[in-house]
Amino acid sequence: MHQFLLATGNAHKAEEFAKIFNPEVLKIEAAPEKLDVIEDGLTFNENALLKAKAYYEKFGKPVMADDSGLCVEALPEELGIYSARFGGEGLDNRQRAELLLEKMKGEENRKAYFVCVLCFYLGENEIYFFEGRVDGTVSQEYKGEHGFGYDPVFEPLGDHGGKSLAELPEWKDENSHRAKACFHAEKFFKERC
Ligand code: IMP
Repeated sequence: MHQFLLATGNAHKAEEFAKIFNPEVLKIEAAPEKLDVIEDGLTFNENALLKAKAYYEKFGKPVMADDSGLCVEALPEELGIYSARFGGEGLDNRQRAELLLEKMKGEENRKAYFVCVLCFYLGENEIYFFEGRVDGTVSQEYKGEHGFGYDPVFEPLGDHGGKSLAELPEWKDENSHRAKACFHAEKFFKERC
């Protein structure tokens, strides 16, 4: 079994990851305190690494950090690693999602994908990255009550009857970018057990 501190002060996130991973392979615990890490990397990998390194240096234990976001092909500079800040400070999740719909009005290219990068920092010379993606499109309207963030304005590819990710909670649990990245990580660490 491999044990990691999660590079976030958010106990809810720690619980979510703990639920995804098989505790016999990967045990994730919340960090004792949240660190303010400046995420000024230019890629998801760089930002996940910045967080992982900061927590490793502070607590001296193996760390798992994550970074995620929504990449929209028609708005390449605006979301991606900046997804959490899209539209500036002071907006809530719903306002950000609605702003995205507004900016996409009339846009034909609605291709988008969610991405999650996990960084496992075991030491200065032992760092692993795992990535998961979900392809889809930006919807025409805000729909669904489940999930969070941009879920209500994202329709995953496949036969889902035009539903958004916020209307597909069970499917999301199994197939999200986060779940896929976790699956890759778990497979890797299982083989090292
Ligand atoms: P972070 O992983 O907490 O840094 O999230 C980055 C941004 O991407 C936030 O604005 C989230 O709302 C968005 N995001 C990441 N994962 C998801 C998801 O599964 N559904 C909806 N939005 C997400």
